[in-house]
Amino acid sequence: MSMEAGTQMLNGLLVAEAIKQGVAARVSELGQRGVRPGLAVVLVGENPASKVYVGSKVRTCQALGLFSEKIELAAETTTEELLAVIDHLNGRDEIDGILVQLPLPPQIEARLILEAIDPAKDVDGFHAVNVGRMVRGEDSLVPCTPAGVIEMLDHYQIPLAGANAVVIGRSDIVGKPMAMLLLHRHATVTICHSRTRDLAEVSRRADIVIAAIGRTAMVNGDYIKDGAVVVDVGINKVSTADDVRRIFTDEEIPTRLEELGRRGYTLVGDVGPRSVIGRAGWFSPVPGGVGPLTIAMLMKNTLRAAEARRGRTM
Ligand code: NAD
Repeated sequence: MSMEAGTQMLNGLLVAEAIKQGVAARVSELGQRGVRPGLAVVLVGENPASKVYVGSKVRTCQALGLFSEKIELAAETTTEELLAVIDHLNGRDEIDGILVQLPLPPQIEARLILEAIDPAKDVDGFHAVNVGRMVRGEDSLVPCTPAGVIEMLDHYQIPLAGANAVVIGRSDIVGKPMAMLLLHRHATVTICHSRTRDLAEVSRRADIVIAAIGRTAMVNGDYIKDGAVVVDVGINKVSTADDVRRIFTDEEIPTRLEELGRRGYTLVGDVGPRSVIGRAGWFSPVPGGVGPLTIAMLMKNTLRAAEARRGRTM
């Protein structure tokens, strides 16, 4: 019997594809009326991971027919200079969404930047106005990663109402909005973090565990109740063969070792597949789980922003 018996995979690629197809269809419809939703992505400095993310956001826009613009600024850019760029983008009608890739260099006051984006164009959903609306359960632009997790859970018809959900991580980008979205769907939500006592024991009570921690394979089988739904938001690198053998299932080890040899690393989330697959009822893998959904939801948010902003002319 294979170790995977009993655990079904939450295929984020598949769900993301369906979302993107929906966006592309609507974008093409809008195109016939002369409206082309547009996204501006602002990258400050040379962070290699940020460059990869920005590149794939722009490529996805192109693939779905959205207008996109990449604005690359020097690492020494000041807060004032970046504010001027945001101000200009706020005023351009063909730009429906503005995304400032995080993290920003330390000299820039990130909070000021995020608050300067027109809330109507805030496709990351980080502006206080959108956060406030989301908390109240009003219509708003919602952060892409947690919104994508909800889409994935819905796609697989995972019941949320009344479920015990444990969110591990309390960042403004993932943990907090994730908890709020689950609450709005009537889950009983527990938010855990670095100071939580007996984390494994708390997590073991959950029907649904969302791991958004940034710690390589920290969540192991001890954190998971039999049959629980486990969503892994983390993105970490594993760069030794010993770690690959410790973290991945026997089935996956050969391909992961091959990748390690070729690229020098392989990606893993905050959940260790070796001890969780077989115990969980559902599991979202890394890669191929939450990652693709984040970009798909960014496209959907850009489309929504365009529809809301240009509603009168469409
Ligand atoms: P963050 O560093 O801002 O927050 C991490 C959270 O985890 C904090 O709230 C902290 O309290 C908690 N934490 C840290 N150590 C802990 C511990 N030992 N025990 C319990 N809790 C602990 O990170 P983030 O931005 O929320 O991202 C979390 C992870 O998700 C990262 O790996 C990040 O790369 C990944 N991520 C993925 C996507 C995606 O599209 N798949 C998007 C955003 C973030």
